[in-house]
Amino acid sequence: MAKLTIALAPGDGIGPEITDAALAILKAAGALDSLEFVRVDIGKSEFEKGNTRGISDAAIRAIEDCGLVLKGPMETPKGGGGKSINVTLRKLFSAFANFRVFRTLPGVETVYSKAGLRIDMSIVRENVEDTYGGVEHRLTNDMIQCKRLISAPGSEQVARFAFQTARRLGIARVHCGHKANIMKMTDGLFLDRFRAAARDFPEIEPADVIVDALCMNLVVRPQQYRMIVLPNLQGDIVSDLCAGLVGGLGFAPSANIGTHVSIFEAVHGTAPDIAGQGIANPTSLLLSSVMLLRHVGLLHEAATIDNALLATLESGVRTGDFGDRNRPAAGTMAFADAVVERLGKTPGTVPPVAVPPRGQARLERGERPSGQRVIRTFKNVVTHVVGCDIYLDTPLSAAALAEEMARACADTPFKLSLISNRGTMVWPTGSVYTECVDYYRVRFELRDGVVPGTFGQSRCVALMDRVAESFTVCSYELLRTFDGVKGFSMAQGQ
Ligand code: NAD
Repeated sequence: MAKLTIALAPGDGIGPEITDAALAILKAAGALDSLEFVRVDIGKSEFEKGNTRGISDAAIRAIEDCGLVLKGPMETPKGGGGKSINVTLRKLFSAFANFRVFRTLPGVETVYSKAGLRIDMSIVRENVEDTYGGVEHRLTNDMIQCKRLISAPGSEQVARFAFQTARRLGIARVHCGHKANIMKMTDGLFLDRFRAAARDFPEIEPADVIVDALCMNLVVRPQQYRMIVLPNLQGDIVSDLCAGLVGGLGFAPSANIGTHVSIFEAVHGTAPDIAGQGIANPTSLLLSSVMLLRHVGLLHEAATIDNALLATLESGVRTGDFGDRNRPAAGTMAFADAVVERLGKTPGTVPPVAVPPRGQARLERGERPSGQRVIRTFKNVVTHVVGCDIYLDTPLSAAALAEEMARACADTPFKLSLISNRGTMVWPTGSVYTECVDYYRVRFELRDGVVPGTFGQSRCVALMDRVAESFTVCSYELLRTFDGVKGFSMAQGQ
């Protein structure tokens, strides 16, 4: 029987130590009879060669071929323009859903375990879009922008994955965490696609919760949630909060799931303070490896390791970062040996994981595309240009700017409709107490009587060109309607 190939990137710092420990347990559980690991060059070694992407071309091809990656933590170079390799990998291979499981573990004491509260929940975080696009620009002396990108197909993909996973795990209710009360268009779209995806999973109840209330609820009554799906940045923050509920990042596994490539990794970093000492806790990477085993259908091996780990923790074996400080701490490999010794055993104080019969490793993945795919949700939408927002770098007052802008649009199809600063309307009305910075938005909309659809964006570009004769234009956004609905937000106070 041919083995499934998995790209292995042990990572930096404690990465190689915890990888060796996790692989020793996988081998002892028989998982390596079905899996073969091939080393790929990703992370520090590539950055040090001057490769700012942090991954070699050979590694990209290898990962494309096998579709699976097991990776240890990797160091992000500080400054110098090198981007986080962890984020690069997820985006490069469209691993759009970050799936993390948070469970109360025996021997890992938290305020909740002491209170007898068992936590068992999952977070599905959108993994590719949002501010993690890293699209940032300095616009003026005083203003820097990060673009927040939320797409309909991107939101739908991650919501669909959450519902599919909830169905597989028998979870009855999935929450969408969001901030659609403030970011009505971006988070509004994320919530809308969540609700649209829910229609295909009638047995699962869709619910939603505003992210700030969610954080409070998670601290006060975490057991009320089983699965939460969130946009990228909010999901990043909430998932670390959840890791804290069950004992910290050392116990939080993570899978980045895509149509073609999935990446399994420890959530914590490279722990430079303890690297090379053989004392790191390998649990997070081990649990991530167990997620990988389940992903490829090795359910028997996954459950066997899960039970052995629970039995090990329950018996009080611990690495130095957790557990009863009165007991001696085990090193990384001694901890792994303790898990190996307990393979075939089940825990006594927490419910054991049911062990299914052995199966064959298999990987379901989308057909390899011939080129980069354009994914789409809405098609055949009728759009009309109805104006433009022009962003200017100027220290002028709003009133002085309004006079100049009224002149600029005098003989065009547009009228000056508002000026805002940091999103708050400062002209034609506003408060004298609104503090302004050197970055204004000037909104031009169609004059009364001009019919939308009678011209395209060239008239807006011509207006921008005219404004640019006397002002620095930082950026420009077209105002359009989509099937008659405005595709832009109002200013605060409008
Ligand atoms: P960190 O997670 O590496 O360390 C924070 C603290 O937790 C340290 O005291 C460390 O000793 C401890 N710790 C972490 N993992 C542990 C383990 N398995 N066992 C025992 N103790 C453990 O976070 P950091 O110090 O902020 O980051 C260090 C480096 O890791 C940075 O370069 C950062 O960019 C990178 N990082 C990588 C990832 C990733 O690869 N997914 C995630 C986070 C940080």
